[in-house]
Amino acid sequence: MNKEEKKIIRRSTSQRDLVLEAVRTGNHLSAREIFVLVSQKKPMSFGTVYRNLQILAEAGEIIAIPNDPTLLRYDSQSYHHHHLHCRKCGRIFDMPLTYRDEFDKEAAEKSGFVIDSHSISFEGLCHDCQDEQ
Ligand SMILES: [Zn+2]
Ligand SMILES: [Zn+2]
Repeated sequence: MNKEEKKIIRRSTSQRDLVLEAVRTGNHLSAREIFVLVSQKKPMSFGTVYRNLQILAEAGEIIAIPNDPTLLRYDSQSYHHHHLHCRKCGRIFDMPLTYRDEFDKEAAEKSGFVIDSHSISFEGLCHDCQDEQ
């Protein structure tokens, strides 16, 4: 590895740390929201932030929540858990419900897939949006 390569790795690592830090400060933030947070600390393009989010998600450091395909949100808690999605304000909350490993086992038996995990999303109205009604 030459000097230039080392510099690139160091640079991308610190960018990644900033992105990870931003994901951890918020609650199920979207890529745009994470981009705004990171930009306050260090100028970075949206593409760079997005690429780092993908790398972190692939590494299992964070998870991408696919509720809204146009607005991917990221979770700093990468253990298996489910989500509540408010259909009015779009916010996502953690669902305090036990993750059932037997679902994975049953799905593997029925489909022949190698199952890594499953996710359940509950749709509805959050407390704030209920109060507004
Ligand atoms: Zn809401
Ligand atoms: Zn979550």
